Amino acid sequence: RLALSCKEVEKLYGSRSNVTRALAGVSFDVAAGEYIALMGPSGSGKTTLLNCISTIDRPTSGQVLVDGQDVCALKSGQLSRFRRERLGFVFQDSNLLDTLTARENVALALTINRVSARGIPARVEAVAERLEISDVLDKFPYQMSGGQRQRVAVARAIVGDPTLVLADEPTGSLDSKNSRRLLESFEAMNEDGATIIMVTHDSSAASYARRVLFVKDGRLFNEVVRGDKTRKQ
Ligand code: ADP
Ligand code: ADP
Repeated sequence: RLALSCKEVEKLYGSRSNVTRALAGVSFDVAAGEYIALMGPSGSGKTTLLNCISTIDRPTSGQVLVDGQDVCALKSGQLSRFRRERLGFVFQDSNLLDTLTARENVALALTINRVSARGIPARVEAVAERLEISDVLDKFPYQMSGGQRQRVAVARAIVGDPTLVLADEPTGSLDSKNSRRLLESFEAMNEDGATIIMVTHDSSAASYARRVLFVKDGRLFNEVVRGDKTRKQ
């Protein structure tokens, strides 16, 4: 089963006199359960590609299929529902709501998805255990370390069982110890079946992914599939 299929995705920014071709026709497939890293120099189109997949942005031409569904064909009402139910987002900064505890931040994702209230506490506890944040569930973001906040953000992203987890530089604001913990939590959720696409500049972060796609000038120009033992620099 394919979690994602990009077909000749092109994205132009600007107007006729000043066009930037951020994506120049990108095609690739991601099977359900894969763990992909997107790497490439600054300005190469990684974030644009991620945004076209996440429906934050729209390709100028080409197709993005998530779970076989052409996301560009979704109307605005369907779009928000699609994002809520199918996608999990992790950004460089955790973007937690300051006035809510960790538990409330994570639970909110389920409330919005209209999961029945009875099921919510157990799901929050389970995902917290996996990310080793059980002990901070009743703290507010300002009472947590950056690494804890980022793991709460990951919990919020995955608690609804998304088809696809999209992460843009998730370790970008973390020190090496917290990066490793975050990456180990990604690895564990990937082993549990989540499909992950992570944009990163950091080759040690990318080494956790099974397949690394390299982007340059808006194109995929290389791909490395890792064996099991090639990790660790
Ligand atoms: P790079 O991809 O080279 O690391 P940046 O990290 O500066 O570049 O950000 C890439 C783009 O992603 C920027 O245009 C920024 O505005 C956008 N971006 C970052 N975080 C978010 C977010 N939470 N929601 C939407 N867009 C975001
Ligand atoms: P990366 O994430 O690899 O750093 P981006 O996807 O952010 O690259 O950017 C790819 C290209 O598209 C760059 O040349 C960037 O300047 C341009 N670009 C990105 N977002 C916009 C925008 N909103 N308007 C105009 N140009 C943009």
